[in-house]
Amino acid sequence: MDALANDNQPLDIVPVYSLNEEQENKEIVRHYRALLRSLKTKVKKGDKELLRTAFEMAVEAHKTMRRKSGEPYIFHPLAVAMICVDEIGLGIRSTICALLHDTVEDTDITLDDLKSEFGNEIAKIVDGLTKISTVMSANSSQQAENFKKILLTLTDDPRVILIKLADRLHNMRTMDSMKHEKQLKIASETIWVYAPLAHRMGLYNIKTELEDLSMKYLEPDKYREIARKLSETKRERTKYINEFIRPLKEKLSHTGLNIEIFGRPKSIHSIWNKIKKKGVSFEEVYDLFAIRVILDVPLEKEKEECWKVYSMITDEYMPSPERLRDWLSNPKSNGYEALHTTVMGPQGKWVEVQIRTKRMNEIAEKGLAAHFKYKEGTQNEDRFDKWFIQIREALGNQEEEGIDFLQDFKTSFLAEEIYVYTPKGEVKMLPINSSALDFAFYIHTAIGSKCIGAKVNHKLVPISHKLRSGDQIEIITSNKQKPSEDWLNSVVTAKAKNSIKDALREEKKAIAEEGKYTLQRKLEGLGAAYSPYNIDQLVNYYKLSSHLDLHYNIATKIIDLKELKLFQVIGDKIEAPKPIIAPAEVYVPSNDTAKTYSKKESELIIFGESSDRIQYALGKCCNPIPGDDVFGFVSTGKGLIIHRTNCPNATQLLANYGHRVVKTKWAKNKEISFLTGLSIIGLDDVGVVNKITNIISGELKINIAALTIESKDGLFQGTIKVYVHDKDELEVLVDRISTLNGIQKVTRFDTETV
Ligand code: MN
Repeated sequence: MDALANDNQPLDIVPVYSLNEEQENKEIVRHYRALLRSLKTKVKKGDKELLRTAFEMAVEAHKTMRRKSGEPYIFHPLAVAMICVDEIGLGIRSTICALLHDTVEDTDITLDDLKSEFGNEIAKIVDGLTKISTVMSANSSQQAENFKKILLTLTDDPRVILIKLADRLHNMRTMDSMKHEKQLKIASETIWVYAPLAHRMGLYNIKTELEDLSMKYLEPDKYREIARKLSETKRERTKYINEFIRPLKEKLSHTGLNIEIFGRPKSIHSIWNKIKKKGVSFEEVYDLFAIRVILDVPLEKEKEECWKVYSMITDEYMPSPERLRDWLSNPKSNGYEALHTTVMGPQGKWVEVQIRTKRMNEIAEKGLAAHFKYKEGTQNEDRFDKWFIQIREALGNQEEEGIDFLQDFKTSFLAEEIYVYTPKGEVKMLPINSSALDFAFYIHTAIGSKCIGAKVNHKLVPISHKLRSGDQIEIITSNKQKPSEDWLNSVVTAKAKNSIKDALREEKKAIAEEGKYTLQRKLEGLGAAYSPYNIDQLVNYYKLSSHLDLHYNIATKIIDLKELKLFQVIGDKIEAPKPIIAPAEVYVPSNDTAKTYSKKESELIIFGESSDRIQYALGKCCNPIPGDDVFGFVSTGKGLIIHRTNCPNATQLLANYGHRVVKTKWAKNKEISFLTGLSIIGLDDVGVVNKITNIISGELKINIAALTIESKDGLFQGTIKVYVHDKDELEVLVDRISTLNGIQKVTRFDTETV
């Protein structure tokens, strides 16, 4: 079931789709023909018939289903197949799987049907796709379990994940007619797992589009604002790029090389990320300017010619020495190869330059599929394979559950990479933020377990030292060393984490042996048996989770078994005493407390259609105010928490706990005000504080909760906490302060530091 089919009940469709059946059928056939045309060069004898069978089977199976938009469901598998062919470069077998990808989940067709019609290979891929689709709709621990299944299928046959990405891309492109909460959930999942996965598969275009589409739903205002500014500045930017390129074209034309050179737009999401990360404005994001040079040269000359082009460009424009990235000599493990640099262009503006060959470009755009096509003859043929082996290893020996696993997987396998060197000069790829300890475990478990420190570029560093690309590392070991609990905070790779946990578990078992002996003696002293039943009684009584924990706690004297005398002994069995409920723990609903729990506040959020009123708290992480786009999240123990959809924690919550999200809406209420914060930067000027406070409390009659101003070297930075009624009021305030002389930037806070 894909995300759309999920609530695609054929009955409650409002038909917005206006074609009649005959027109619809024509349209379906037209899409199918287009698919055949795209596949033309790949079709071998007999393929056409197979494809036809798959198409007809899918049409028949989905014939009564419609999408939320009202169009016949079959348009979706057709579109997914088209993405597989055109945008990922997959072949006939994958196309057949794409056409059938939702049949086993949503229709009467079974895996056996597919097996007898198309054989094992195709049935297996569709099976993998069916399994993935249940992942995100389940609760979190099931989710992780299923996610592991996906990864196993993925390492079996990477086409599963490629087709899944095509499926997700099409769903994201056509999400407009879905309910808002559903959009938020799907967009969050996409930004959380699918976009990084696309990146890891080397599908840069798809990754970028997934990120932009997610942002369109998660942060619609920012998305529109940046899109507008991009289109407003387009002419100006094109003019600049042309000016930049002109002398280069001139030079390059004399070389006889076959070269294309053009401006490259930056994605909205990447611009937004930079704005957030660096705390700058749109206008200040310097590498809005980017160009790409693509060379058509034979494989054996690639490196040489790329550097030649680099040299010509940097003769014309000065390069920034820190910003040279050589992915020619050290391709990323997703297969990416290119030469990146940033140079100083006309008018003192930085321009990012990417140099790559046609082959490299195809790999950058189509990722894995293109990579395998070129696999023979390149030196990095096993980069993907290595990655798959690492995943399999990590899956093989991990026992943790739930979100931890997903998080670990992300930091270990989906993160950007750095490359570092062994003392002998061998290059190793590690995820970004890896420590010296990660490196030690990466080399060998035995080295990691004995690691006491490292020399990075000949300097002594602690085991937690974070590595950077280009570092050369020598690990220092000692036979007396052994892993400890806090090591877990110093590593990011799954390999290191698993090895440390294994070692800790072994140690714990050894210590627990002693506790086991103590317990045995005490029980026998009471005339009771050392039996699983009796041990369970004690485990439950002390609220532990395993026999091992009980033994360990006894051995380490955390539990002294004094309470054992409260137990009844019947035959060889012991019975736990009845728990005494402390009065304080009994919940007595009291009208008084309900009232004092700010009655007014509880009326602010209206849920669903029934407009019932529920108590809630505002997320401390993002401090929402009326008018913000928000969602409610049922947190364990703390009740309902309201978060902004652009809260720093939102994507994680929505992607992992979608089932705990509640629809929320602000009610109109002008009586209550909310605490929010602004950060102001400007030129230090006598009386600036006065001017600001005049606007806030004098002109706009807004209450100030706190105000701090710090000046340094002619600049001042201030934070103001104010009580506002809603977003509109806040915006008016921001606008008014921004227009004051000398004020450079006014931004809203959204962190706990308010
Ligand atoms: Mn689908």
